[in-house]
Amino acid sequence: MQHFPIFVALTGRRVVVAGGGEAAVAKLRLLLKTEAAITVVAPEVAPEIASWDREGKLTIIRRALRAGDVAGATLFYGAAEDEEEDARTAAIAEAEGALVNIVDNLHASQFITPAIVDRDPVTVAIGTEGAAPVLARAIKADLEERLPQQLGPLARIGKAFRGMAEALPFGRARRDFWRDYYFEAGPRAFENGEEAVEEALDQLLNAHLARETRAGHVDFVGGGPGDPELLTLKARTALDRADIVIHDRLIAAPILELARREAILIEAGKEGFGPAMSQEDINALIVEHAQAGHHVVRLKSGDPTVFGRLDEELEAVEAAGVAYSIVPGITAASAAIAGLGQSFTRRGRNSSVRLMTGHDVKGFADHDWKTLARTGEVAAIYMGKRAARFLQGRLMMHGADPATPVTAVENASRLDQRTHVTTLGRMAADLDTAALTGPVLILLGLAPRAAEAEIKTLQEEAL
Ligand code: SAH
Repeated sequence: MQHFPIFVALTGRRVVVAGGGEAAVAKLRLLLKTEAAITVVAPEVAPEIASWDREGKLTIIRRALRAGDVAGATLFYGAAEDEEEDARTAAIAEAEGALVNIVDNLHASQFITPAIVDRDPVTVAIGTEGAAPVLARAIKADLEERLPQQLGPLARIGKAFRGMAEALPFGRARRDFWRDYYFEAGPRAFENGEEAVEEALDQLLNAHLARETRAGHVDFVGGGPGDPELLTLKARTALDRADIVIHDRLIAAPILELARREAILIEAGKEGFGPAMSQEDINALIVEHAQAGHHVVRLKSGDPTVFGRLDEELEAVEAAGVAYSIVPGITAASAAIAGLGQSFTRRGRNSSVRLMTGHDVKGFADHDWKTLARTGEVAAIYMGKRAARFLQGRLMMHGADPATPVTAVENASRLDQRTHVTTLGRMAADLDTAALTGPVLILLGLAPRAAEAEIKTLQEEAL
């Protein structure tokens, strides 16, 4: 992040704009939304600026900017649309202590003005560090559509009510009250005018004050394979409401970003290498926070019901009498297979699939090798990285064809996804060479669609 976003208090402070043309007009339109004391310095000004002056909204000094003009100003905009003149005025402004922005000149600017979605007092600022103005505009357009116009007035009325709402205990109770207001009661009442909103606030507060303190709740949530877009809407809602998020190490950073800002994040496990925290400790942690009345999200990678020791956690939660729900997620196998352009089942090839683990708490896991060794079998192998040689050995020993396609997908669905195509006979050696670092899903009996033809030719040549 090269520019740190902040909101600057401008009420009563000086802002100086040097220039009187189109660029100045565009910036002034934004600045006039504030209560800053605005001075425009330019030999000539556009008619809009002249009329703002007549309306008393700003002051014009009709000459070129000179030393002393920017004294005491908080912000300075160079909008002469002339490189030399902008450089000259910027030097004066900087010497006089203002933060400088040169319109359309990122490098000469100390700050940049973001694209703004204005639902005063709610303001959304969008910046791309000058990299993609088109993107900023697209995001702005999207938000303009999405954020209801009444958001501004609702926030204004709500702000005046903040003191009253302190009658509710801090934390969840108060949050629930405000959520109800902004997304349910407020917009409903707004249809009947601002007074109706104030009444609704009173009623809502009474209703919430009458509520008993809520019992905690645990959501066992599938965080998916890594791409935040592969989260379910339910998962997003749960993250948005969480007080505490207890997550596995495998959960990708962009997904944790989606947790409610005030939520406490706790990393619980190190998948594949034995948990950093013992399973008992994790169980106790979940129960403890839920019993304190919190909304706990137990965030597991992929689908929580697949190789996630979910049962042990469910038992602990049940034994403590805490309510829970399970939010399924996209398991790593689904994401890996989608990346190959393949289908998990295929008519004439395999009518069943297996989800298997390369190792379990006791070591390398045992399986029905004989069945798995048959041609056409398809299996998704979790936690198979270090078990590759063992898997290969067992399958070959039971007569599997060494030419059986094997594809290992590393970091499935993530930006750094890598696909390693090999065969059963070469699997262990190839995966060694590949120096895998991320989580890996091994697909036995599947090759990427594009590689399939190539493999067929190789097989035919081998015959
Ligand atoms: N519940 C998870 C699996 C947990 S076991 C799920 O449904 O996906 C952890 C194993 O899942 C890892 O060792 C790896 O084999 C696999 N895995 C998880 N995320 C992955 C990803 N993004 N890419 C490839 N494999 C992944």
